[in-house]
Amino acid sequence: MHSSAEPLGAGPGPMVPLPFAVAARRQETADTWTLELEPRGGASLAFAPGQFTMLSAFGAGEVPISISGDPDGDGPLVHTVRAVGLATRAICASQRGAVLGVRGPFGRAWPAGEIEGADVLIVAGGIGLAPLRPAILTLLARRERYGRLLLLYGGRSPSQLLYTAELAEWEARGLELAVTVDSAGPEWIGHVGVVPRLVARARFDAGSAVALLCGPEVMMRFTAAALAQSGVGDDRVYASMERNMQCGIGHCGHCQFGPTLICRDGPVYRWSELQPWLAIREL
Ligand SMILES: Cc1cc2nc3c(=O)[nH]c(=O)nc-3n(C[C@H](O)[C@H](O)[C@H](O)COP(=O)(O)OP(=O)(O)OC[C@H]3O[C@@H](n4cnc5c(N)ncnc54)[C@H](O)[C@@H]3O)c2cc1C
Repeated sequence: MHSSAEPLGAGPGPMVPLPFAVAARRQETADTWTLELEPRGGASLAFAPGQFTMLSAFGAGEVPISISGDPDGDGPLVHTVRAVGLATRAICASQRGAVLGVRGPFGRAWPAGEIEGADVLIVAGGIGLAPLRPAILTLLARRERYGRLLLLYGGRSPSQLLYTAELAEWEARGLELAVTVDSAGPEWIGHVGVVPRLVARARFDAGSAVALLCGPEVMMRFTAAALAQSGVGDDRVYASMERNMQCGIGHCGHCQFGPTLICRDGPVYRWSELQPWLAIREL
């Protein structure tokens, strides 16, 4: 007799992709698209900010992609995808009505509840703003529960910035925004330089502030160092580790990082948990 808590036939299980149809598709930058997906038959997916799905374009491959939509809404499942290789190019090329496979949601979320009362610095580089968007929407929906909310965001150039139409709306709702680009023409009137440099200029209560980071690993290392210099300890810095993975449920071991599996124990970690392993070259 079957004795597990999960009755037989309760669901297809975490390895079976569910069909979702592309309901809307929006180009964000030259190589990045936001896709809104609707379940074909089943219910919409509940998720916590920072979680990801294993998203597949049939015949092209399956890849981990963070959910970039609003966790509070019961709207479509939203992903923002940068076309870098076989699977992501096929996902980005999917037109309205095309069916993609979705497994998940998986992974550990941003600690939105634990950090209530603190000033929160959200530090994003490039496509790293996508996994942070659900956290921003969650914090803004409960604006009164947090101290200062700051978004420090950097891209390679002004044309590579995501969600540009939304940034002003977030500012109007109480987010302090600083945007920087690596290089820009004369029409750009904002900061020029790398994101970690924005930390020293930002005003926040270093004794209690918390930081949420997502971007290239080198950017996160320099940001964590700048935060430490400003007095924000590694145990108050959280980072999303977007390294490659395959099963998403802690079985295959492809995403092993030190003693942890990123799909199961991450992708969101405290910087103090990552630090010993990041110090080992090529781990
Ligand atoms: C938890 C998590 C969340 C992610 N969220 C997003 C997201 O919201 N949006 C998004 O666009 N991407 C995201 N990624 C990265 C995405 O999974 C990769 O870009 C994708 O796996 C590349 O697959 P591909 O078949 O298109 O490219 P491939 O043909 O496999 O590779 C193309 C190039 O991309 C590099 N690459 C492959 N996988 C990764 C990876 N995981 N990270 C960085 N470089 C990689 C390869 O080394 C190669 O240079 C996330 C990754 C993880 C682990």
